[in-house]
Amino acid sequence: MRTLNTIAVVGASLAGLRAVQTLRKEGFAGDITLIGAEHHLPYNRPPLSKSMLRADDEITLPGAEDLGDQWLKGRQAVRLNAAGRRLTLDDGSEIGYDGLIIATGARPRRLPSHPEGVHTLRTVEDSLALRAELRAGHEHVVVIGGGFIGGEVASTARALGHDVTLVDASPYPMTNVLGAEAARWLAHHHRDNGVDLVSKTRVTGFEVDGRVTGVRLSDGRTLPADLVIAGMGVIPNTGWLESSGLTLSDGVVCDETLFAAPNMVAAGDVARWPHTLFGGELVRVEHWANASDQGALAALNLLAGPENAKPYADLPSFATHMHGARIQTAGLPHLADASHIVTGSPGEDRFAIAFARNGVLVGAVAVNAPKDLIRLKRATAAADRLDSLT
Ligand SMILES: Cc1cc2nc3c(=O)[nH]c(=O)nc-3n(C[C@H](O)[C@H](O)[C@H](O)COP(=O)(O)OP(=O)(O)OC[C@H]3O[C@@H](n4cnc5c(N)ncnc54)[C@H](O)[C@@H]3O)c2cc1C
Repeated sequence: MRTLNTIAVVGASLAGLRAVQTLRKEGFAGDITLIGAEHHLPYNRPPLSKSMLRADDEITLPGAEDLGDQWLKGRQAVRLNAAGRRLTLDDGSEIGYDGLIIATGARPRRLPSHPEGVHTLRTVEDSLALRAELRAGHEHVVVIGGGFIGGEVASTARALGHDVTLVDASPYPMTNVLGAEAARWLAHHHRDNGVDLVSKTRVTGFEVDGRVTGVRLSDGRTLPADLVIAGMGVIPNTGWLESSGLTLSDGVVCDETLFAAPNMVAAGDVARWPHTLFGGELVRVEHWANASDQGALAALNLLAGPENAKPYADLPSFATHMHGARIQTAGLPHLADASHIVTGSPGEDRFAIAFARNGVLVGAVAVNAPKDLIRLKRATAAADRLDSLT
């Protein structure tokens, strides 16, 4: 272990908390300063678009209560002087460090204007505000974007009895994540569960009368809307690093061991790194398990130093529920040039698809087939060939 006396962690959510917990577990006895823009104990975001919209309020991450005095709550880092190893915070104060962990996550992409009644979903405040609106009994709920957040919110709003229109730019929602076959199934699944799915269409603006009354579409139509949720993807929080000299390109670009510079590592939604399992393809992953595992490894690697650091090569994996169906992915199906259904069929609402590039597995998608996902995940991690499954 090399000698570091002070470590600063910027971002007090899942990746940041895991990093702090790992530093302590490894016996790091120096000072840790955790800087977090939010005013809450670190909490779990997945319930924000699911159980919390109904009732659940207990989302604090285990171990978050043990953060001591060195947690600067409600404070934002606004600038990094990498050469001088100093951070500037939003109150003008400065913090020096020997090692830095960057875990500032991502924020929702927004349209140019968001009038009252138009929501995004990232924080506990966002979820509580949306919950209050869903309880207020609006007639026309419009969800923009058919990704996992949009799909989950559409599903929850339907379960609460709302009329829901889902507007999505692609021919089938989540095609880039699930591949064409599973995405086609998802489109049917939304429609079978009463969602009015408007595909191949973009939102161009809003009609407003005090609050939102309509959503203007690229095909010239206007949908009536009194509640809108925009789920249009996220942007990594790297603004505070603009003048730092770090390489920023859709996230903080790191090496395969998560080092962005010799004394700096990044983890979670903000980190982009070359994935050794996929030929060094630069990836940024916006999943819970990735943030948790990377937070831990980034801390270990920072303590070990670049020469002793281990690559982060875990397979990305993700699970969601929409209208009662369990949808899981592993690996990076979007890299594939071929795919094959290995179990079930979309018509049965139960199937698993293996994805390959140049004959080698790169990912899997399973719908209501969790055991198949486990099998395909193992095979993908082992870089098995697609033809070994058929
Ligand atoms: C509604 C919702 C549902 C989700 N559902 C799932 C799911 O079902 N499955 C799944 O795998 N993943 C899901 N995710 C994704 C998962 O929650 C994220 O991948 C995870 O939260 C990433 O953790 P993180 O610590 O990297 O970043 P974040 O959770 O984004 O945290 C970053 C923190 O840094 C703070 N910050 C930003 N800039 C600064 C700064 N300059 N100074 C100080 N602090 C700063 C932010 O305020 C934030 O608290 C969901 C996400 C959302 C929003």
